[in-house]
Amino acid sequence: MMAGCLSLGQAIPCIVLAVTALFSSCSVQAPAGTQVNAGDGPSATNKDDAATPAFDAQRAFAHLEAQVAFGPRNPGSDGHAACLTYLRNELQAVTDSVELQPFTHQSTAVFPGKSFRMTNVIGVIEAASGSAARQVVLLAHWDTRPVADRDPDPANRRKPIPGANDGASGVAVLLELARVLKASRPGTTVIILLVDGEDFGARDDLSEWFLGSKYFAKHMGGYRPSRGILLDMIGDKDLAVESDSFSIQADAALMERLWSIAGALGYRSHFPKTPWPSTSVYDDHLPLIDAGVPTVDLIDFDYPYWHTMADTVDQCSADSLKVVGDTVLQAIRDGI
Ligand SMILES: [Zn+2]
Repeated sequence: MMAGCLSLGQAIPCIVLAVTALFSSCSVQAPAGTQVNAGDGPSATNKDDAATPAFDAQRAFAHLEAQVAFGPRNPGSDGHAACLTYLRNELQAVTDSVELQPFTHQSTAVFPGKSFRMTNVIGVIEAASGSAARQVVLLAHWDTRPVADRDPDPANRRKPIPGANDGASGVAVLLELARVLKASRPGTTVIILLVDGEDFGARDDLSEWFLGSKYFAKHMGGYRPSRGILLDMIGDKDLAVESDSFSIQADAALMERLWSIAGALGYRSHFPKTPWPSTSVYDDHLPLIDAGVPTVDLIDFDYPYWHTMADTVDQCSADSLKVVGDTVLQAIRDGI
């Protein structure tokens, strides 16, 4: 976070500490290995057949691993360039159309005077023919933080992070969701938005965070999403998705619906209902909310490796990706 994410707690520590303490006492975490049981589902949702293909946890995790294998994906890096090509190619295979939305960011506080090329990658999956023309945007940031400024070792704090959870996890879920959605054609047009420049900013200075989301919000062109879901840091092995206050303010009905679906799918321990809200997170949903698109953030900010060199593949799990993927997939199929 700023996580992509920045916790409001960082700005107002006393409020956040209180909320965090309450949340910690109330959250329930399943033992490792019991996080996902497709058989807990209430219906055929998780059964893979021609009509309703299922979210494949291993495919999603392979997308996470592939991104991390490029190295850090901070703007200007070799890994960033290589990952952009990967994302474009992968999205072209699983959506109906892909658009690259490039922009230039002139840094002020972070790298004063230096320019960075950044690119949002946008794929569209058209609704089934005859459906209403409603659009939903699903987004995640694909860039990774240029500095591990929360690493316990001061020698690491100028190095770029691997970004397995903070960066790769949300994108991995969206790439797999796109495959499933294109194969099953929901009644809603789905915009897959992979934003750049989320995790670029200086600590305690919001001016250079959420750059891709801000750019999209100002340049939506023909896109007309009626609501959105942001995924960020949802690959943690000990997944417990937060109930973010900005998300509840923006679209309480969607938040309630997502938690209800997760419970029905057997994922209650990963979507704890109390406290409500559990935290407040500055993230890529805020620019979209400001632009009139109610957007909620699914994020597990309780991640000790946030913005450190230890945000690696082994801290993540395919099961966690599936928990979130199944929940969002069902929400889309329900016609949110
Ligand atoms: Zn981050």
